[in-house]
Amino acid sequence: MKLRARSVCFLCILCASAVSCFSLDREAFTFSSYDLNVRVEPEQQRLGVRGKITLRNDSTTPQKIAALQISSSLDWRSIKAGEQPLQFVTQTYTSDIDHTGALSEAIVTLPQAVAPKGTVELEIAYEGVILLDATRLTRIGTPEAAAKSSDWDQITERFTAVRGAGYVAWYPIATEVADLSEDEGLSEVLGRWKARESDSKMEVRFDSPVVSENATPPITLCGGTELHAVTRGGSPKFPWSQCSYHPLGLSVPAFVVADYGFVDRPAITVFNLPEHAVAAEAYAAAAEKVTALITEWFGASRRKAETADLANSDAAPFESGSLLLTPLTVADSKLAGLVAAHQLVHAAFSSPRPWIDEGLAHFAQALYLEQQKGRQTALDYMGLHRAAFSAAEKQPTKHEPDDEVSRSLVSTTNEELYRSKAMHVWWMLRDMVGEPALKKALAAYRPEQDKEPSYMPRLIQAQTQRDLEWFFDDWVYRDHGLPDFKVESAFSRKTMNDAYMLTITLDNLGNAGAEVPLTVKFAGGEITKRLEVRAKSKAVIRVEVPATPQEVVVNDGSVPESELTNNTFKIATEEK
Ligand SMILES: [Zn+2]
Repeated sequence: MKLRARSVCFLCILCASAVSCFSLDREAFTFSSYDLNVRVEPEQQRLGVRGKITLRNDSTTPQKIAALQISSSLDWRSIKAGEQPLQFVTQTYTSDIDHTGALSEAIVTLPQAVAPKGTVELEIAYEGVILLDATRLTRIGTPEAAAKSSDWDQITERFTAVRGAGYVAWYPIATEVADLSEDEGLSEVLGRWKARESDSKMEVRFDSPVVSENATPPITLCGGTELHAVTRGGSPKFPWSQCSYHPLGLSVPAFVVADYGFVDRPAITVFNLPEHAVAAEAYAAAAEKVTALITEWFGASRRKAETADLANSDAAPFESGSLLLTPLTVADSKLAGLVAAHQLVHAAFSSPRPWIDEGLAHFAQALYLEQQKGRQTALDYMGLHRAAFSAAEKQPTKHEPDDEVSRSLVSTTNEELYRSKAMHVWWMLRDMVGEPALKKALAAYRPEQDKEPSYMPRLIQAQTQRDLEWFFDDWVYRDHGLPDFKVESAFSRKTMNDAYMLTITLDNLGNAGAEVPLTVKFAGGEITKRLEVRAKSKAVIRVEVPATPQEVVVNDGSVPESELTNNTFKIATEEK
């Protein structure tokens, strides 16, 4: 049976366990720092971790008890404060935040209560196996194959790939129950955890057993700023690698260990499994071809992009910091170019704000498609993203009192919003201010100067005479939902020179304004104009066409809208 948040506490009250459930606030502590040594033993499919974590009490009351959660396939060995071993009880805590559908939770009694904003440093040790496990998905009815292409994390002798919070709790976390069978159940809990952790830092050193004299040691890669080496303790057979996240931001720490070969090019290094060497060459070549476009928009790359192969050819790709994990089985250069465009933006441009950092990387994918195949292909691709965040737009969140602000692009932790919605926002900005102006604004951006949410909007505003404050307010500083355009009326009148003058009134029924393209179709052709229509407002435009106008279509898909069924208007012509 699956325990929900309420029933868990209810049980505690009835059995009066050692754990006082009343006072346990699982989300009181932020884990402000991790310093971990991780030993990966591929042959045993095991992981052993020793290290230090710092907990900061971000609640308003003193906390005497802390919850530390790791994957249910791992076991706690010790928890100490300084030299003092601490008392703790462990229990299985059912939660879909881990691929096993449960966590090993240690309820730790701290040496003394930690005051609000106070910290405590703990020395921890835990170990166990990480096996392929899609329990959380199969138990809610996801077909086995789909579940395994999503939850592909595991340690095996040949290939290891493990992602962090939200996939495998291979480092300690502390969250309330996340339930995949509830709408937004997991994404909300995970969003709160990531938001709490975004200023935290993590240092991880990975090592694997020493390999024998004539064997090649495996390569360990991780996201974040990375150091690899195959020499430690004087032995070239002692593989290790170190990874830093300063700060974590919204990234999910992940690592891979495999006998990778690699293709090294000026813009990118592609790590491939031996059987995917050809696809890796093709991927690297496709990436090199995209560099010109990326440099033109986002400047020269500051570091090399890194891509690492996944063994399961159906595995869903995943980004961890600067590292992209994707199966290199498809030698389709268009797909490779599309993926590489995203990665190369990260290598050239960075921002601590996800709507800028990820939004621009997705925007570049649309730019790439437009360059390769034209605007319509780019719009079709953006349409796939629109489906994702339109659903998110309709979901009210349960935990946040002020959704408008918490769901805004500048503060959201929802990936659909800061990726897919942000991509549309960048596309709309380009349509409104033009390419040269937007490129200049991006070139002026300095991440270290980005202290205010308004920093980037001001850089863009500085490049244009046009007032954009309303746009940033509707789309960036707040979540005003989506516009809903409707052609209210279109009257045509024959002019002296045998042309037609159309007077079109557009109505925006939504709470977000936008500049939207509208196309007038007439016998033998069409004309497209753009019109700014603020939230809950109307706007009028006159369009001259050379032949009898037939219909008006508002929005080519570049502006996300809540309702698309009312966008076409047939014209009745009055002959005067
Ligand atoms: Zn990205």
